[in-house]
Amino acid sequence: MKILITGAGRGLGLELARAGGDRGHTILAGLRDQTKAEGLTQLHNRFPGRIHPLSMEVTNEASIAESATKAMSEFGSIDVIINNAGVLVERDKRIEDLDFAQLQFTMDVNLYGPMRVVKHFLPLLLKGQDQSIVNISSEAGSFHNAYGGDYPYAISKAALNMFSEQLKKYVKEKEINVYAIHPGWIKTDMGGDKAPGSPVETANNIMDIVEGKTSVKSDFAFIDHRGGSMAI
Ligand code: NDP
Repeated sequence: MKILITGAGRGLGLELARAGGDRGHTILAGLRDQTKAEGLTQLHNRFPGRIHPLSMEVTNEASIAESATKAMSEFGSIDVIINNAGVLVERDKRIEDLDFAQLQFTMDVNLYGPMRVVKHFLPLLLKGQDQSIVNISSEAGSFHNAYGGDYPYAISKAALNMFSEQLKKYVKEKEINVYAIHPGWIKTDMGGDKAPGSPVETANNIMDIVEGKTSVKSDFAFIDHRGGSMAI
């Protein structure tokens, strides 16, 4: 499979690239700054011909359009889009203290980023096979788990879930799977050292989903990385 992953230089994105490369897939690795992505350079050497860095700043539509044009000429199609890049800022701020510039920034990366990527890469995906779009979401974006803080992050992920559900309906007739996946609380720069989960395990579980090895138990897009329903 040809798999596009945003934010592939570290954290969950890097583990997704590693898991995909390990399984023989071709990885289009979206990165902001290739010179800082040492882990990806190692993967590039470990899986010759399978890891292809692609310059992608998800807040910049021109950057996404350019990378889609480049990918179309080099690969002709893709099979999977994984919108993984994300930010978590303004933690535990009270509504009275909220900085709207930070809310806007979070929406720009966590919601408009995936929307820009889908807008420009959908033509390539339509030429692929056994296609899936995976938006990496969070339980913070579920009504059930709302814990009354992290306004920008929670709201951006709830909106990403809605975008995923709308997209699922839009591409239904084309038999493209659309998921908004909660990856679990995992050890990355964002998740921190105390997180109980491993990004390696989550990345492999997500690969199992896109490869069709996991039976997904939900009619809605919002699921966890083991294929269980997160809807509501
Ligand atoms: P990290 O903070 O470790 O990594 C974030 C990644 O996103 C980096 O690769 C970063 O690139 C990239 N990124 C950020 N902003 C942009 C941008 N504007 N354009 C392109 N790339 C960007 O986070 P995780 O790996 O933990 O998170 C991955 C996803 O999982 C996120 O969507 C997050 O919300 C979600 N998630 C994570 C959880 C956790 O416990 N870790 C829990 C629930 C959800 P760069 O290196 O250039 O900064």
